[in-house]
Amino acid sequence: MLIVMKSDATPAQVDEVCRQIELLGLRPVPIPGGGRTAIGITGNDRAVDPGPFVGLEGVRDAIPVSAPYKLVSREWRPNDTVVTLPNGTRIGGGAVCVMGGPCSIESDAQIHAAAAFVAEAGATVLRGGAFKPRTSPYAFQGLGEEGLRMLREAGRAHDLATVSEAMDIAGAELVAEYVDIVQVGARNMHSFGLLRALGSIGKPILLKRGPASTIEEWLLAAEYILDAGNSEVILCERGIRGFDPATRNVLDLAAIPVAKSLTHLPVIADPSHGTGRRDAILPMSRAAVAAGADGLIIEAHPHPDQARSDGKQSLYPAQFHQAVLEVRQVARALGRDLAGEAVNAG
Ligand code: PEP
Ligand code: MN
Repeated sequence: MLIVMKSDATPAQVDEVCRQIELLGLRPVPIPGGGRTAIGITGNDRAVDPGPFVGLEGVRDAIPVSAPYKLVSREWRPNDTVVTLPNGTRIGGGAVCVMGGPCSIESDAQIHAAAAFVAEAGATVLRGGAFKPRTSPYAFQGLGEEGLRMLREAGRAHDLATVSEAMDIAGAELVAEYVDIVQVGARNMHSFGLLRALGSIGKPILLKRGPASTIEEWLLAAEYILDAGNSEVILCERGIRGFDPATRNVLDLAAIPVAKSLTHLPVIADPSHGTGRRDAILPMSRAAVAAGADGLIIEAHPHPDQARSDGKQSLYPAQFHQAVLEVRQVARALGRDLAGEAVNAG
């Protein structure tokens, strides 16, 4: 339920609405927003009766929120959430943010080389995993904290923001000390304890869609993080399980406009994990931007053939350069810019 106040409602009338909500044992959430004062109600597990609220002074309307998620919904907040990173990169609200880098941080030299070509191509966020969710316990698990240190240094050297995955609550606190965005991997989308802990981590969260999760389940996972106090969540479509081994996953491009219609949160796409194929990354990058994605996260490596993880779905430096070039062209054809390149501003 969303209580929309009249434009001339007084602070005392707003307080009274909040008090009435609390009397029902529920939580009032004042909603920031352009031209209206609204108060959302959370904490209810069934529909709230609008009756008592429409009669209160200063109340214009009581709107039932039809979706099971609230804080992430467009009904709750019509305007796009924009996440701004320390290097000025904006995610959401129109521009296309490109993130690139290796699946795993492997050495100082590797991540510095990656940072150099990622920045040179015009991307503004460097990715690299230090804690890797591997299917086999015998596969490379990542360099841990040492890797995070390397990632931070490489990012600083090239004015790139950074993103890296955390797999558990203790790991999230550590990762948050080093990077600008904490990633929740697809396999952890349903780790509710982790999602709750990210509410107070103090950094934006990149929330990947679970490989077998519906859009509604994905938005509810984001709702956990917002409900716990962190409103800076970036959703990432990274492919869902299909039946055809020709691609590793099925990059669900339709999920981009659908999710964006349902939520104000930015939605980006991961064509590397979404396809598992180097040759499909560029076409799917173009397509994702054409479908309205707020950004891309692309695996790219100085020497993909030597990568310790996901080399087959990592671009060579020259291919990454080409991908950014073409993504920029698609964005501009649609009246958009790459994040950090405000050509169409004003
Ligand atoms: C990754 O980003 O390297 C990764 C493991 O992604 P996902 O969780 O989408 O599989
Ligand atoms: Mn990977």
